[in-house]
Amino acid sequence: MTFEALGLNTSLIKALTDAGYTAPTPVQQQAIPAAIAGKDLLVSSQTGSGKTAAFMLPSLHRLSEIDPAAAGKTPNQEMQAARARGERPRFKAAQPKMLVLTPTRELALQVTSNTDKYSVNLRRLKAVSILGGMPYPKQMQLLAKNPEILVATPGRLIDHMESGKIDFSQLEILVLDEADRMLDMGFIDDIEKIVDATPSTRQTMLFSATLDGVVGNMARRITKDPQVIQI
Ligand code: AMP
Repeated sequence: MTFEALGLNTSLIKALTDAGYTAPTPVQQQAIPAAIAGKDLLVSSQTGSGKTAAFMLPSLHRLSEIDPAAAGKTPNQEMQAARARGERPRFKAAQPKMLVLTPTRELALQVTSNTDKYSVNLRRLKAVSILGGMPYPKQMQLLAKNPEILVATPGRLIDHMESGKIDFSQLEILVLDEADRMLDMGFIDDIEKIVDATPSTRQTMLFSATLDGVVGNMARRITKDPQVIQI
């Protein structure tokens, strides 16, 4: 089995070759074609199985097919244009296309750095981490660039959402990574609030060590006709 056979575009294949990935792992073999086709996924798999690439590669593939011309000006450019017209610029909310929720800062940073590796030939698709403990002004600067992909821990994301810095109305892909750990850490209300702020037309992918009990209930509530993958 090759990455080409899974349907990924040549920019991604080149990045994978350069990263030294020779063949897809079992979870990648099952998840990538289904996710490229736009299916929701419920995946039970462990850290180390290659799950990050299993959700990020098909997402980058799908997002890279969106017409860049349709993306319009970034909020930053709009603020500069307002200043040039002598108007007082207003902060315009970022409108990400993809959101990855993770339980911890460490995992969020790992997901972001893997994404940078995979998207190296897709200049427009950049990932930004939104994490608790990071200074707000720095995060505002990152959000002002209107990144396509946000990787976040739930608490800090809610702060930005509630203060109008992030608008999820254009979101196409939602990923819950290590969903069981997020629930163990007490993030259920935050997760529900975030999911409710996203369009019901989104694609949803949930990764978890287990799909039983509370996590299974939530998984079935937030996905539509999901493909279930157990590794
Ligand atoms: P993850 O399960 O996503 O935390 O990935 C575990 C590690 O495996 C990471 O360091 C990835 O960069 C690496 N990895 C993921 N998929 C592949 C692959 N198909 N070939 C080689 N390394 C991989």
